[in-house]
Amino acid sequence: MTAPTLILPERSHAIASDLRAALGVDKVKDDYSTLTAYAVDASIYRMTPRAIVLVESEEDIATTVRYAMHRGIPLTPRAAGTNLTGSAIGSGIILDVSRLNRVLELNREESWARVQPGIVLAELNKQLGRHGLMFGPDPSSGDMCKLGGMLANNSSGPHTLRYGAVKDNVEALRVCLQSGEWLVAKVYGLDDPSCADLLNAHKPLRDLQLLLQENAILIRQKRPTVSKNSCGYNLFGLADGLKQGRFDLPKLFVGSEGTLGLFSEATIRLVEKPRATLTALIHFHRLEDVGDAVPKLLELSPSALEVMDANTLNLIGRAKHGIPADAAATLLMELDADSVGLDLRAQAERMTEMCRRYRLASDPVIAFDPEQREQLWKARKALYPTLYRFHPRKKPINFVDDVVVPAERISELIRYLEEFFTGQRVPVAIFGHIGNGNAHIIPLLDVNDEHDFQKMVQGYHEIHQTVLGRFGGSICGEHGDGRVRAEYVKTMFGPELYDLFVRVKQSFDPSGMLNPGIKISDRPFTDHIDYVRLSKSCATCAKCNAVCPVYDVFQSEDMSSRGWFEIVTDKNYSYLNSKRVVEACLNCKSCRTACPAGVDVSQLILDRRAEHPNKMAGLIFRFHAQSARFERFLKLLARYQSIWDRPIIRRLLDRVTRPFIRGLAETARLSPQLVMPRLALRHLRDRYPELIPQTGQSARSPVAYFHGCAANYFDDGVGDAVISVLRKHGVEPDLPMQRCSGTPIETYGHRALAKEGARVNLASMAGYDKVVTGCASCTLMLKDYPTLFAGEPEQMAAQVLAKRVTHISEFVAQSPVKPPMASQQPTKCKVAYHSSCHLRAAGVTKEPRAILAGLPGIEYVEMPDADRCAGGAGTYLVKDFETSQRIVERKRQAVEQSGAEVVATSCPACMIQLRTGLRGAAEVKHVAQLIQEAYEAADRV
Ligand SMILES: Cc1cc2nc3c(=O)[nH]c(=O)nc-3n(C[C@H](O)[C@H](O)[C@H](O)COP(=O)(O)OP(=O)(O)OC[C@H]3O[C@@H](n4cnc5c(N)ncnc54)[C@H](O)[C@@H]3O)c2cc1C
Ligand code: SF4
Ligand code: SF4
Repeated sequence: MTAPTLILPERSHAIASDLRAALGVDKVKDDYSTLTAYAVDASIYRMTPRAIVLVESEEDIATTVRYAMHRGIPLTPRAAGTNLTGSAIGSGIILDVSRLNRVLELNREESWARVQPGIVLAELNKQLGRHGLMFGPDPSSGDMCKLGGMLANNSSGPHTLRYGAVKDNVEALRVCLQSGEWLVAKVYGLDDPSCADLLNAHKPLRDLQLLLQENAILIRQKRPTVSKNSCGYNLFGLADGLKQGRFDLPKLFVGSEGTLGLFSEATIRLVEKPRATLTALIHFHRLEDVGDAVPKLLELSPSALEVMDANTLNLIGRAKHGIPADAAATLLMELDADSVGLDLRAQAERMTEMCRRYRLASDPVIAFDPEQREQLWKARKALYPTLYRFHPRKKPINFVDDVVVPAERISELIRYLEEFFTGQRVPVAIFGHIGNGNAHIIPLLDVNDEHDFQKMVQGYHEIHQTVLGRFGGSICGEHGDGRVRAEYVKTMFGPELYDLFVRVKQSFDPSGMLNPGIKISDRPFTDHIDYVRLSKSCATCAKCNAVCPVYDVFQSEDMSSRGWFEIVTDKNYSYLNSKRVVEACLNCKSCRTACPAGVDVSQLILDRRAEHPNKMAGLIFRFHAQSARFERFLKLLARYQSIWDRPIIRRLLDRVTRPFIRGLAETARLSPQLVMPRLALRHLRDRYPELIPQTGQSARSPVAYFHGCAANYFDDGVGDAVISVLRKHGVEPDLPMQRCSGTPIETYGHRALAKEGARVNLASMAGYDKVVTGCASCTLMLKDYPTLFAGEPEQMAAQVLAKRVTHISEFVAQSPVKPPMASQQPTKCKVAYHSSCHLRAAGVTKEPRAILAGLPGIEYVEMPDADRCAGGAGTYLVKDFETSQRIVERKRQAVEQSGAEVVATSCPACMIQLRTGLRGAAEVKHVAQLIQEAYEAADRV
């Protein structure tokens, strides 16, 4: 079947307006930015859709399906868009299920849950984890992929070895058929009256039953013999069921890639979370030994057994990950305590003993601690996007990415592939689930180069043919067929079985409008390749979406980090056609911290904003730059704060200032709910005149304290705490002249003004060995000055300063002086840590936690989502108060769950935001304040 393209361009706007009339304006989008963001998924393809529907109910799904089928418009369901095959993009309507993201029911005793398709796997497991449960299948994309996509792709992951693929863990699905009718797809007994009712109600099911009965022998003959397969429709599972008197409908729909129906919910089977787990890295000197070792290691019943070949190890960087230079392949193995019923340490010894017979490049690395284990998995999970760093033009291309061979022949496969790609002179990464014989093969190619393009086409046919012919394998283990393998499904199963697939598709989707071009298509895999994107730096893996607070709230790709990369780097981008989205970013930098490919979306957005500096912000920041006048103004405000900060006056102020503040953004306001910090009558610099060097005087201390604006202007004790802590460590800091570090200024597009202040700071901080900071944003901005001055004369000085910037928590952690603290106190205060995004981006994550955990009088608790943005981000809570409050809600719930009485953090904006969002549920303090309290308590003893 060829994908039809039935939409005429002039009809495109009618689609969105029809759908808006039927569903409501908030659920339908067809503006330039949205269509650009939804034109990609994590595959090599691009297709620009005509309209996006963000469904919020089953009724929304059915209405959209009926409309699309009635009008002959292709309809593509979509969840997180992390598939690697092009199955979540299309030329018509994209139906995004992300807003349907709740756990509807959980049965702890029977270990099942009813779950909506838009929930992210990691979020699902977080919720289930509170009950000691989890969903077994675990794609490496688990931080971002959603249940709907996992179901439709029959996804699996490293732990398939123990828990199976999605198809093995689904009880039932609610499926919207092409007719708009709903079907409960569960296992029906053939003699059950409800099965007869079902068959009477749905002709496609009658056709299916007949087809299975008439072709039982053919289906049996063509069944793949390897342990994993997601190619074609799973008629094999259905045929098995029929033989046992069951109509096993989940087997049909799981893995159908949105081509037969759309899911609104699934009843999934859950497993107990393992009590304890061991993770091991085994570095082999010879590839051949790996093939020999695998069956032996499988005797230990591992829950996961993964391989990375020598090239992969080279590409991700051996030194960075502590991988020996002579390792020919590395195995990553995991054992769960309750899978073997034995002591894990004894198992570790057995494993080490087994490995002794092979030449290892080093002793196995074994970890029991969750944090260490996560480190071992980190490189493996981010492997594919990490490969984007390798070369500016040669990118990892997924076109033979998911083959399966018998597990014991995996070294033979790797040897064949290495020879093949050496012959082509193409670097390639080969890794995957060796326990299942499932190899991910990712060659690095410049598809814009004619030679590389030809190598891709040659490799596609030769490798798939070899996997089928020589190895008797499958071309698809878990990623789905999508656009990339659709061309080869017929070759994999032969024309007769393929014809059955076509009949199934035609029966469930007679108009061919459900995700056309996917799975059943004769179009070459090279159709719709996104040559432009494949020359860019973003892998479109969506890892950044998983941490983007804006995406978390809106659940729409045009309001997400990955979407923004697409939009701001698109050739048709203009500030006018994308202002709405370019201005929605918080500049929290969470995306930058998360991106394995090294892309900084927030920086790209700042670059775009710099092309259109905000006029109103420019006026404010210029006033701010005139320190003396600005400070007089603030002190005046401080004097009368007890009056203007009263609720009634704040309401009035909100109204009066709105027309003025709107200059910052359409949504900007001074909400009366915003908990204002107390402004200082005497600024920090007024309170510590003895620490201020005279004009022209050189540094009097090796340490400068860069207090930034907030600690100077607010009467919140933060600046005093930092100074007090430094003094306890024997340091009398200087408070050299300083201007705003520049973060808020750059956020509003005033890069020149930010640089002006930065130059002052570079000059005044130049004479110090250490520049201590308390504010997260100042820390990051000072460390980022080399980027601000990239290619300019100041870059060298900026690099020197960046190395000297030290957050107060780092200072305390590194200090040889250990001030006395009061010994353990009987009653402990429960303290959680909110890790400010900018401090995380500056690389400071462990020190504040370690310090808090070591303070007497404190019971440190790690709260859920501690590393997620709280939504304050500089002035964002003025720029868009409503959204900022939607963001902080998740944080509020996390604090509540942790039971913390105090939340510690290190960013003034986070402190304001937490005080506003927590509504008194917990006290908010700077880390330095808690350290100061501990030191001062000792003085009182
Ligand atoms: C870095 C990285 C690592 C990966 N690792 C793995 C791995 O280890 N194992 C693995 O199996 N995959 C892996 N993948 C591929 C991908 O993440 C999985 O296939 C994932 O399950 C797709 O989920 P999604 O939410 O992104 O779905 P999408 O990409 O949005 O959609 C996938 C398919 O599901 C369909 N669909 C979505 N929602 C519905 C619905 N409600 N009803 C009907 N059809 C629907 C879509 O039409 C499409 O055909 C990886 C991808 C990346 C980028
Ligand atoms: S910016 Fe980075 S994390 Fe985000 S989609 Fe691109 S590669 Fe992935
Ligand atoms: S900086 Fe924050 S809000 Fe902006 S794209 Fe990155 S994660 Fe999203």
